[in-house]
Amino acid sequence: MQILDGKIASAAIKEKLKLIVEKRKAENKKTPHLAVIIVGNDGASETYVSSKVKTSEELGFGSTLVRMDADIPEALLLDQIKTFNDSIDIDGILVQLPLPKHISEARVIEAIDPAKDVDGFHPVSAGRLVQGLETFVPATPYGIMLMLEHFGVETTGKHAVVIGRSNIVGRPMSILLSSQHPFGNCTVTVCHSKTKDLASFTRQADIVVAALGKPEFLKADMVKDGAVVIDVGITRVPDATKKKGFAIKGDVAFEEVAPKTSWITPVPGGVGLMTIGALMMNTLKACERKD
Ligand code: NAP
Repeated sequence: MQILDGKIASAAIKEKLKLIVEKRKAENKKTPHLAVIIVGNDGASETYVSSKVKTSEELGFGSTLVRMDADIPEALLLDQIKTFNDSIDIDGILVQLPLPKHISEARVIEAIDPAKDVDGFHPVSAGRLVQGLETFVPATPYGIMLMLEHFGVETTGKHAVVIGRSNIVGRPMSILLSSQHPFGNCTVTVCHSKTKDLASFTRQADIVVAALGKPEFLKADMVKDGAVVIDVGITRVPDATKKKGFAIKGDVAFEEVAPKTSWITPVPGGVGLMTIGALMMNTLKACERKD
């Protein structure tokens, strides 16, 4: 068993990005600039947003963070997005999800200029991904592809089972793994909450991507020997022994599954770190398009 270590792979991406940004600055080219909007003060969202802003700064990117109250009208959020759409300096716009119930996530995502859609959630980005066209790939599946590439995990001809069909993880992941790409070319099965006898699919899989948000769902008897297991899940589980009062759990029962695998991602320290690196890659791409 080998660990797909997000610290190692994301450090390599960050190093590469830092050098590119330094070179751009030396050549008087534009510095990539990411704008982030957070609505309300959900604990997990705060954590994600602060690490996105911190990483932007570490890499020499520009960053703007706008905080809005949980009860703001949707129109105010759409106005803020329009301001960022119109700004020459802002390259990428990210609205941290989930949003409060009275705000339509679909309307908010569609309000972002597709040229600045570094989260890759806009229908234009999703449509281009389906057609195999150049686009912004959602950061988590993109980060997983970068991780497979970093560690040279073979995918061509393999059977991949993706558990989850959300627009931000499962669906784009299944498209990428089945696409004509050096780390794609898989035969892909997508499982979801209505799948009957899910274990019968995962037991046949050479690669399992667990993205359902159910802590320690994937058990050892659901995985075949030598499989590659990618754990996307992040769930806060109450734990009185932890300072913060919770532990972070993935969708894979790591201790029992790991010994059966050829490669596995840990949680934390796996996919989550790659997601931020991939978001920064998208922001650089948005900036480079303006060159
Ligand atoms: P989501 O929108 O809630 O989607 C979950 C998917 O899992 C749905 O397609 C659902 O099926 C399926 N599902 C739920 N229960 C299932 C079950 N018992 N058996 C089979 N399928 C089941 O979640 P998401 O946004 O994709 O996120 C999934 C997990 O990844 C969460 O833990 C989230 O926190 C984590 N995440 C991590 C990162 C990262 O950077 N590491 C980034 C994003 C998300 P239906 O479609 O039938 O409802």
